[in-house]
Amino acid sequence: MNSSKWLKKFQLLYLSFFIALLLVSLSNSASARHPESLAKSAQPPSEVVAFDILDAVEGAVQYIQISNISDEQEIAIGEQTNQQVLSQYPLYNNSPIQEYVRNLGQELINNSDSRDIPFIFQVLASDEVNAFATPGGFVYVTTGLLKTAENRAQLASVTAHEIAHINEKHGIKGLKQAVAARGIANTVGLDTSTLAPIAYQLAVDLPRSRSFEYEADSTGLEIMQQAGYPPEAFANFLAKLESGGGTPEFLRTHPTSDNRIEAISQKTEVDGVSNNKGQDSTEYRNNVLALM
Ligand SMILES: [Zn+2]
Repeated sequence: MNSSKWLKKFQLLYLSFFIALLLVSLSNSASARHPESLAKSAQPPSEVVAFDILDAVEGAVQYIQISNISDEQEIAIGEQTNQQVLSQYPLYNNSPIQEYVRNLGQELINNSDSRDIPFIFQVLASDEVNAFATPGGFVYVTTGLLKTAENRAQLASVTAHEIAHINEKHGIKGLKQAVAARGIANTVGLDTSTLAPIAYQLAVDLPRSRSFEYEADSTGLEIMQQAGYPPEAFANFLAKLESGGGTPEFLRTHPTSDNRIEAISQKTEVDGVSNNKGQDSTEYRNNVLALM
């Protein structure tokens, strides 16, 4: 074979390799927009590598200036963090329960002054009693937490608290602090694959800042009230967690003290218009607990 034939053969090979990469890329980016389908099987590391390569091929790697993050960039960080969350905690494979939590979250968003970004509510299969939020509108609650709540109002109170973290951009503020503390800020910008693992740590592993917690308690209660739920459900739920023995994950990462519960109760007494919405434990038992 002469050299021009070799060249043609090489070009053909190269082209088919490139097309194969592109196909993987398309299927990956499609599933990334539908985190639930992605979660059904945890992503093997090889696909993650392909995803990174293809982002580069498509020119989609986002270099993010940490000092100035747009909603779109925050969502890009959230989507990547979501992949990490779902590789650590499998999505709970139960459509009615996922829908119940999604509907409740959407009800809270629709009836409050929340940010105009898509919110994604997901139930994780985990006995840890926990809930958390990551940048870009991602809210997670565990099956352990669902089983601990006594009614829809208590679940609404935790969900509203997590929505409040997103409305107040606590994930992004925490990310900025962490990047500054680690000295990795960079004039060119940081890409999402550097930022997402830090966002994950902040949301899942590290204790929250007290000031963020008080702020989320306060605006979370407002969200509840705007949606018509009795705000005292939050204090009741925290008190239940505290009295349950052990330290549920939600309390480990959300430092809770009598002071905090008292502050919540005081705000509830001042602002609260008490009602019974979501307090029917039978409704919750039939629509959630009986299906788990
Ligand atoms: Zn919190």
